[in-house]
Amino acid sequence: MLSNLATRDVETLIHPYTNLSTFRETGPLVLERGHGVWVYDSDGRPYLEGMAGLWCTALGYSNEELVEAASEQMSRLPFTHLFSGRSHDPAIELAETLKELMPIPTSKIFFTSSGSEANDTQVKLTWYLNNALGRPAKKKIISRIKGYHGVTVATASMTGLTANHADWDLPLPGFLHVGCPHHYRFAEAGETEEAFSQRLADELEALILREGPDTVAAFVAEPVMGAGGAIAPPAGYFAKIQAVLDRYDVRFIADEVICGFGRLGTWFGSEALGMRPDSLSFAKAVTSGYMPLGGISIDEPLYKALVTQSAKLGTFGHGTTYSGHPVACAVALKTIEIYKRDRIVEGVAEKAPYFQARLSALADHPIVGEARGLGLIGGLEIVADKSSKRQYEPKAGVAARCVAFAQAEGLIVRFLAGDRVAVCPPLVISHDEIDTLFDRLGRALDRTE
Ligand code: PLP
Repeated sequence: MLSNLATRDVETLIHPYTNLSTFRETGPLVLERGHGVWVYDSDGRPYLEGMAGLWCTALGYSNEELVEAASEQMSRLPFTHLFSGRSHDPAIELAETLKELMPIPTSKIFFTSSGSEANDTQVKLTWYLNNALGRPAKKKIISRIKGYHGVTVATASMTGLTANHADWDLPLPGFLHVGCPHHYRFAEAGETEEAFSQRLADELEALILREGPDTVAAFVAEPVMGAGGAIAPPAGYFAKIQAVLDRYDVRFIADEVICGFGRLGTWFGSEALGMRPDSLSFAKAVTSGYMPLGGISIDEPLYKALVTQSAKLGTFGHGTTYSGHPVACAVALKTIEIYKRDRIVEGVAEKAPYFQARLSALADHPIVGEARGLGLIGGLEIVADKSSKRQYEPKAGVAARCVAFAQAEGLIVRFLAGDRVAVCPPLVISHDEIDTLFDRLGRALDRTE
């Protein structure tokens, strides 16, 4: 029996990433408020928010400083834009702050309102750059199976998940995918992590050579894959990939939408994994999820190309109404100030070993095949048979059942394709709350068995 609010929801809303064929029976989980790492439903029931919302509420809920920053900017100047050279102080100050934080040489910052728009901008600017450089054939974009980069036509094409392609007439031509760096699931018997990484780098190289290096523009990757299964890469992976990209002058774009701003215990995931991207996309934790904001770093060669093209075309023909929204920028500035002042990133590095120890202990559970992660993100895979890694029948919906049991235990985690369960709590989670999270997840697994 659905509550009044739930019934009204079912009658009126289309929910993203929801099975709309069963939703009318299950109905929504209606959340009403939050505090710290806890959220409360419309009946007042608490849940430990083990997914930081959607991998974003790094500072937890009800952070009054963020509320005040938004409120102050709302009262002072709720909206202006960055079109035609107009500007405002929160955008300027935030761009300066981000430029300093970037782990790669950065000339400028371009703001968007989401991760999808950030990655879509990456695709467009890659094409634009290669036109400016007089190599119009160099346009293909390579990403990975199970990579997640968003839902626009271009970013859903980059995404490597069936649900984003089947019946959507995607990927578009020119968007190619290479193997997923998930050692547990895709390595051959006895293959070491290094050997598996080398095989994936060789596969990338073979694809570039087959397509022709002068047609391949960019390679896009998340440091740790999020929506594809919370998958940490195998040893040596990015160094080997980087060597291939360098060899064929292929631009490297890091999708830091989840890993940016501390998730792996470094400001950006690229630092934790030794990646040297040409540009990176960010969103989510830049505002701790309190306001929609994303963006990308622009390196000097790209900036020069934008200037050249503007001279030719009369304008830089890209941007949305809310690029660099003043309230979002004010909240981001406050968020980053808190990250620095409260040593949030260092705190993640300190807590991560304990978090990962509690996560990997779940690998002893009879239905858990793998439990692995990095920093404060982790994924576990539910299997029907541990020794053969055989999976449950897809219809069993075993990960979804586990997540439902977790919810009944007062814990929010997320199920993902491939019978994976992701954990990605707010970065401010305490030691005791890490215990609560994994105790509840363990009980949910017991009930799933
Ligand atoms: N890139 C990554 C790595 C993501 O995890 C997401 C969203 O989860 C996106 C891009 C898309 O961001 P958005 O949902 O803000 O458009």
